[in-house]
Amino acid sequence: MIKLGLLGRHLSHSLSPKIHEFLFEELQIQGKYDLFEKEEKDVNDFIKDISDENIGINVTIPYKIKVIKSLDWISEEASKIGAVNTIHFKNGKKYGYNTDYFGFSRLLEQNSIDVSNKKVVVLGAGGAARAVITCLRDLKAKEIIIVARNLEKATSQLGNLLGEDTRMITFNTLEKENQKGYLVVNSTPVGMFPNIYDCPISEKSIRNYEVFVDLIYNPLETKFLEKARLCGKKAVNGMFMLVAQGIASEEIWLNKKIGNDVIEKIAKRLENNKNIVLIGMPGCGKTYIGKILAEKLNKEFIDSDEYLQTLEKKSISELFVYGEEYFREVETKAIKEISLNKNKVISTGGGVIKKYENIELLKKNGIIIFLNRPLERIIEDIDVSSRPLLLKGIEEIYSIYNKRVEFYKKYSDYIIENKTGINQVVDSIIDIIQK
Ligand code: NAP
Repeated sequence: MIKLGLLGRHLSHSLSPKIHEFLFEELQIQGKYDLFEKEEKDVNDFIKDISDENIGINVTIPYKIKVIKSLDWISEEASKIGAVNTIHFKNGKKYGYNTDYFGFSRLLEQNSIDVSNKKVVVLGAGGAARAVITCLRDLKAKEIIIVARNLEKATSQLGNLLGEDTRMITFNTLEKENQKGYLVVNSTPVGMFPNIYDCPISEKSIRNYEVFVDLIYNPLETKFLEKARLCGKKAVNGMFMLVAQGIASEEIWLNKKIGNDVIEKIAKRLENNKNIVLIGMPGCGKTYIGKILAEKLNKEFIDSDEYLQTLEKKSISELFVYGEEYFREVETKAIKEISLNKNKVISTGGGVIKKYENIELLKKNGIIIFLNRPLERIIEDIDVSSRPLLLKGIEEIYSIYNKRVEFYKKYSDYIIENKTGINQVVDSIIDIIQK
């Protein structure tokens, strides 16, 4: 049994265990990948106490620099970058590497992005940018423009990495200079969930370049990549890099080359971990069907109305006392949090389609399914007292349906007619997902 793990501070959202679990399956080896959440004061003792039996650990924010002093040796790329994300325990010694560097270079290779002798732009000057800049230099980029919001801070952070091939400018200068080049790499968190509408540079600047890489992988398509794609440019997300850096760590630990085809396969599996989001009228069966679906697919179930009530510590009816506008506002707040998840079944409130923002959030990580149930059946089953919008009487349901149906249809990826048995509906959804 190979024992591995990840050292960091807050790790509950990490995709690393999944990446390594998928790799163990691919290579048919027995392995275990644990999460080690440690406080800063305990980091060095933790590393000191690890025995060779553990083989290796990855290191993530905020300990990539701190761990260096506990190691016996660090690799050339880790030394240039000044950060370690992979430790190999061998013969009583501790060896440090930086596989973000390899993750990024393999992403370029996989997407036939050739930077040699070309002008490239790196947005941001943090930890990931250090690996990106080092890699771009090793691949002989002609000019590396580093874009930062605070030049003084960025200069001190990048220190020894700045050289004759680099030029540091602000985001404003990039926009004003309006120059042409080959590649832009976003290594800032701008555009990451939940701030999915943010984009680090303007469309005008995007038009000046040919290829766009975003290190962000949640969402898979950031505004930056969406704009680039809509301008007809090549746009690549950070998922392949994320998997590739994990696989590069395994190559070090296992002393074995693992092909890009395996990385691609695992990245696709992770991308397929989408949420299944059910939308439709109150009483159309979203919660009931959602629960069965979740159980059959071995996914967790989230009811957005329940989530909202827990978040606000009030029932739906109590929230409606402040008016529908207020309710929709807090509903969006809950949807923002819920959309951060992956691999869940989510049932939504009937009015979720009243704000397009909700749909945009849910779509980033999810497949949207409209459950369309005949109104007569809904009327037979519905408990009006628990549905604030139906308190005016049952005929109100027709008027609400007529107003909403075009949005349910327009915003959904698939429409499922819920007029046969529950099991058939669940099977049709599973069919869609598996295809
Ligand atoms: P970091 O060390 O915190 O650096 C972030 C950089 O972005 C800093 O230079 C920061 O500038 C800049 N920045 C932050 N907010 C900004 C804003 N609103 N406008 C302009 N610049 C801003 O973080 P990191 O570790 O380098 O990670 C950066 C991103 O890369 C994250 O989204 C992370 O998830 C992603 N990443 C992906 C992979 C992968 O494998 N795909 C690997 C590593 C990182 P200041 O110093 O002025 O705050």
